[in-house]
Amino acid sequence: MTFIPALLPSMIEAIANIIEKNAEEVTALDQAIGDGDHVFNLQRGIDALMAQHDELSRLDWVAAFQKIGMTLMSSVGGASGSLYGTLFITLSKAAREQPLNLQSFADIFTQGVDAVKRRGKAEAGEKTLLDVLIPVADYLRTAATDSVALPEVLENIARVAVAGMESTRDMLATKGRASYMQERTRGHIDAGAKTSQLMICAIVDVLSKKLTAPA
Ligand code: ADP
Ligand code: MG
Repeated sequence: MTFIPALLPSMIEAIANIIEKNAEEVTALDQAIGDGDHVFNLQRGIDALMAQHDELSRLDWVAAFQKIGMTLMSSVGGASGSLYGTLFITLSKAAREQPLNLQSFADIFTQGVDAVKRRGKAEAGEKTLLDVLIPVADYLRTAATDSVALPEVLENIARVAVAGMESTRDMLATKGRASYMQERTRGHIDAGAKTSQLMICAIVDVLSKKLTAPA
């Protein structure tokens, strides 16, 4: 799986496209229970990453994660900027000296998600992007233990991410701006959970196409 950094430009482009396509819907979600800037925040980060396309694709995954994390930290803003920055910087630290395979990635991703939990002082069930990231990390560890084949893992990640995003609809927000609205947050999907699901699905799509492409 050493091809991952080489795939970063296509992944970033796929993320830019999917966020653009869903911008109105996500903005409406963030306007309902937040301040409506979430897409704008994310797009600043995506634009900054787009500008680093070529450079990122030449790095190894430790250096690429580090650079992505620093870039997101400084460009995204909002709660999501420091959370995604923390995610990628921790992925970079955890990936040091590690081979890239499903087992190591499940462990590395779990460390990243744990760091996001600490940074946001949040847990599962609080109506945030963690309600997508935590189930995906849990699934990755199960898939690694059971040695599930990669195409199936990718399909299941997308399914788990969508289910996690959907699960935020009926939750009560207890973290971030949405928590000010208390009971009125029920019935709305969390914007951060939605974009995190969209971005994960975009990455999965690029990887699935790569796996099925003729060599
Ligand atoms: P802000 O809330 O500062 O305007 P954004 O709009 O960019 O930042 O991001 C909002 C998203 O960030 C929320 O939808 C939620 O998913 C996530 N979020 C906010 N606070 C936390 C937290 N403490 N822990 C985890 N995720 C959070
Ligand atoms: Mg916001």
